[in-house]
Amino acid sequence: MKKIIDLRSDTVTKPTQAMRQVMTDAPVGDDVYGEDPTVNRLERLAAEMLDTEAAVFAPSGTQSNLIGMLAHCQRGDEYIVGQHAHTYKYEGGGAAVLGSVQPQPLALEPDGTLDLDKVALAIKPVDFHFARTRLLCLENTHRGIVLPMDYLARAGEFARGRGLAMHLDGARVFNAAVKLDVPVSDIARHFDSVSICLSKGLGAPVGSLLCTTQEIADKARRWRKVLGGGMRQAGIIAAAGIYALEQNVARLADDHANAARLAEGLGQIDEILVDHAAVQTNMVFASMAGDIVDSLVEFLAGRDIKILGGKMLGGPTIRIVTHLDITGEDIDILVATVKEFFARGA
Ligand SMILES: *Cc1c(COP(=O)(O)O)cnc(C)c1O
Repeated sequence: MKKIIDLRSDTVTKPTQAMRQVMTDAPVGDDVYGEDPTVNRLERLAAEMLDTEAAVFAPSGTQSNLIGMLAHCQRGDEYIVGQHAHTYKYEGGGAAVLGSVQPQPLALEPDGTLDLDKVALAIKPVDFHFARTRLLCLENTHRGIVLPMDYLARAGEFARGRGLAMHLDGARVFNAAVKLDVPVSDIARHFDSVSICLSKGLGAPVGSLLCTTQEIADKARRWRKVLGGGMRQAGIIAAAGIYALEQNVARLADDHANAARLAEGLGQIDEILVDHAAVQTNMVFASMAGDIVDSLVEFLAGRDIKILGGKMLGGPTIRIVTHLDITGEDIDILVATVKEFFARGA
């Protein structure tokens, strides 16, 4: 069977035989009673890696972000968040829908940060006219971009000074840590809570954790149950998460190298404008003149290469994401096929 080169997202990775084996062998129990030894081991491992008091295993990143936000905020509270951040834009408005927590979105800077002077202006006065500003949410990586470490330190200090809690959507925080060559705990220590995803570049089929203080974890665990995220013999999937955290973190550097190789290859094609500044980890964004994104995506699909473009991204842009099922050879095939597309006249 010919390989389908799927670069739409790092969520498309499939568990390897070795990962499936540890899933098969995992000891399990009822995790709602706190009795699944494999879930408990995964939660301890994640808390250790991020150097937090506790971690809560959740089925998806959307849910670990949501239980984090609901643990930090009460009804009538507000969180400040990037206009294009996942926790605002791509999670169905969960905090507002289910928690009566109002988002205050602000434009993100090109480097994925929120300007702290602008955040300061958005914090509401303490007065019954206003929602209570309670939480600042950041995202690392954002569009593959790594937030600078000195910014995290400043943001943490700022949030503490203003009495705000700080949450990190760290769906790809291991990509950031590998890129910066720092332990992930160096990033996590600036935050009150961090969500991590096991099912992106780390290659597990499912799963996410909220890493945080014991107090926030206890509240989040309650919200997880309310949301229907209390799972029973979840050790089967937690085992894949342990495998992912133990085996697949350092190798994210390969994905970053493949993304750089791709950016270089696409950069040589006149019709394509690569956003080189954003190629920091495992994502490549590129744009092109004219109305050809859809036909390029379709042409590639016809050659068993899947990328994301157009409507989902809101413009004449393509997104290509590298991950552990993608090799350097796949990247070369993609570049050659894009060249072929333009050579035949778009
Ligand atoms: C994927 C992702 C999430 C979580 O998404 P799920 O599909 O619910 O696991 C959260 N934030 C970011 C930035 C993501 O890319």
